[in-house]
Amino acid sequence: MGHAIEVIDLRKRYGAVEALRGIGFEVAHGEVFCMLGPNGAGKTTCAEILEGHRFASSGSASVLGHDPARGERALRERIGVVLQSCGIQQDLTVQELLEMYGRYYPRSRRPQELIDLVELDVKRDAHAGSLSGGQRRRLDLALALVGDPDVLFLDEPTTGFDPHARRAAWSTIRALCSLGKTVFLTTHFMDEAQQLADRVAVMVAGRIVACGPPEELGGRQELPTEIRFILPDGISVGELPGLPSGAEVSVERDGVLIRTVEGLDAVHTLTGWALQRGRELRGFSVAQPTLEDVYLALTAEHGEAHAEAQAQAGALA
Ligand code: ATP
Repeated sequence: MGHAIEVIDLRKRYGAVEALRGIGFEVAHGEVFCMLGPNGAGKTTCAEILEGHRFASSGSASVLGHDPARGERALRERIGVVLQSCGIQQDLTVQELLEMYGRYYPRSRRPQELIDLVELDVKRDAHAGSLSGGQRRRLDLALALVGDPDVLFLDEPTTGFDPHARRAAWSTIRALCSLGKTVFLTTHFMDEAQQLADRVAVMVAGRIVACGPPEELGGRQELPTEIRFILPDGISVGELPGLPSGAEVSVERDGVLIRTVEGLDAVHTLTGWALQRGRELRGFSVAQPTLEDVYLALTAEHGEAHAEAQAQAGALA
């Protein structure tokens, strides 16, 4: 069946600005693929080429076996798009808009089903122009789903949502995946990527610098565990028990920080030592590197390229 999305050596120039510098990836059918990256990295450019709203300078992109640049109806009917901002008729109600857009598709979902899915029931008869920012984004999501698409493009879909609405949107997106839909998502929220994505690509200055499942990205599983606690009164760092080789011990303002790739071993040694002596390790915590830690490390590593690309874009603006 091939992949739902295939991108090979895709490049995009806006005059002298190289927004995409030869990127490649595939997205399997039913996968949630998420693009992360700083402002101006090229995420929207990539998404909009796949949606058929922009043209690549070179390379190839294929969505459900179609070249999106050709604007074929057969493809348009099978994709749904939530853009960062898009114009809709402000004087129509939520229900009317869903009915109207539904008429453009051969197989459309019932307005009530969509309203339930995005939890907009209380606003069914409200004019689009009267919705709050977050409610408007939920309507955008419902409109993207009206044609029952196989591939859904979500560009920062939960920006402006309150925490409850964000969680509701995540469960909607997960429900879509369980129906076998493919999702291409861009976001600035690490928890969103962590919660939803099967794979994450980190883009910096028009290049993908890492790609993989969120829990493995950038060698995350191999990164050290961080153990923190407050030293018991009268105990110095030198008196702590022997820790796994390679463990780094440092004293911070509010306690001790131990970084080690053998976290389980170190936790066992430390807690056993404290229990044996009847001492408390106040503030004891064990943390694995988060997706945000890995993302920040990756973007810092490629920060110079990003700064150069932004300066180039700025100089040409
Ligand atoms: P954000 O997170 O801010 O949405 P992004 O990763 O989606 O950013 P893009 O919008 O794809 O980034 O922009 C990538 C680069 O291309 C930026 O340097 C931007 O200034 C430039 N760019 C985007 N659209 C155009 C355009 N129409 N004309 C000229 N330059 C553009």
